[in-house]
Amino acid sequence: MIRVAAPRTPLLAALLLLLAAGGASASGPAPVAVAVRARAVAPGEPIRIVVRADEPLAELSGRFLGAAVFFARDGAAGGEGATGGETWSGWAAVPLDRKAGAATIDLAGRTAAGAEVVGAHAVTIEKRVFPEERLKVEPKYAEPPKEVQARIERERQELGAIYARRRAVPPPGAAFVKPVPGGATGIFGARRAFNGKPRSPHSGVDLKAATGTPVVAAGPGLVVLAKDLYYSGLTVILDHGGGMFTLYAHLSRIDVKDGAAVEAGAPLGLSGATGRVTGPHLHWGGKIGSEPFDPRALLDPTLFANRGQLP
Ligand SMILES: [Zn+2]
Repeated sequence: MIRVAAPRTPLLAALLLLLAAGGASASGPAPVAVAVRARAVAPGEPIRIVVRADEPLAELSGRFLGAAVFFARDGAAGGEGATGGETWSGWAAVPLDRKAGAATIDLAGRTAAGAEVVGAHAVTIEKRVFPEERLKVEPKYAEPPKEVQARIERERQELGAIYARRRAVPPPGAAFVKPVPGGATGIFGARRAFNGKPRSPHSGVDLKAATGTPVVAAGPGLVVLAKDLYYSGLTVILDHGGGMFTLYAHLSRIDVKDGAAVEAGAPLGLSGATGRVTGPHLHWGGKIGSEPFDPRALLDPTLFANRGQLP
């Protein structure tokens, strides 16, 4: 039975691609049209997948590079210029270790009337190589003592549960803002060694900020964590909906409470040097599902352009 299924896959994929390519094919109108909004389709980049359906959808889901993509309706702004259909958006991030080459966004769903919706969209992933970075920190951060292992594991699970959340809200309607004015000092995606010990890649960007610099929300969202963590020190995480999060670490003071709704530019606290640091700075992280992304991509209006519409 497996033998029967396998040869069908390329044909099916080709057919779906044809349908999703849009325009007037001989077989009728495309069920969905797909567009990708991104600064670049490359490792460590967030991408917004926009799906336009000719009729209202009851549900829509996707897969990209082995991960599920959560879709939410674009909301009221989607009505402008629309002709009876609707637009949905989903966030995805290209894993840091992903090789360059072709990839496919696969879509599945159902219209409000009960008809099946399928689609596929081809993308090409650009090559990106991250440098190595060797850092010196307090020994307790390079090799955490036994007594903090349970805490580290508890925090790892807490963060995993947060990043697994998917709020069905329309995507933010405007580009994000920088959380502090300072430029980058640390390299996003760098393969890191602390005191000579290889550790996970740098999952954010380090921005220059003297202790006490006001840190603001980069975009509208919900505070889903505001507490002291072993590695990232005083930390705030914002949930921007659709499984997209930003993180603000090593703060010296937190001025927001878990559960608070914030707008772009709202004060979150003050920068500092808490947790695993080499000195004061703001670590600004981005996460979609379990994949880190370079949050500076969110400053690019391309990702938020024409909410509710395709080009
Ligand atoms: Zn950092």
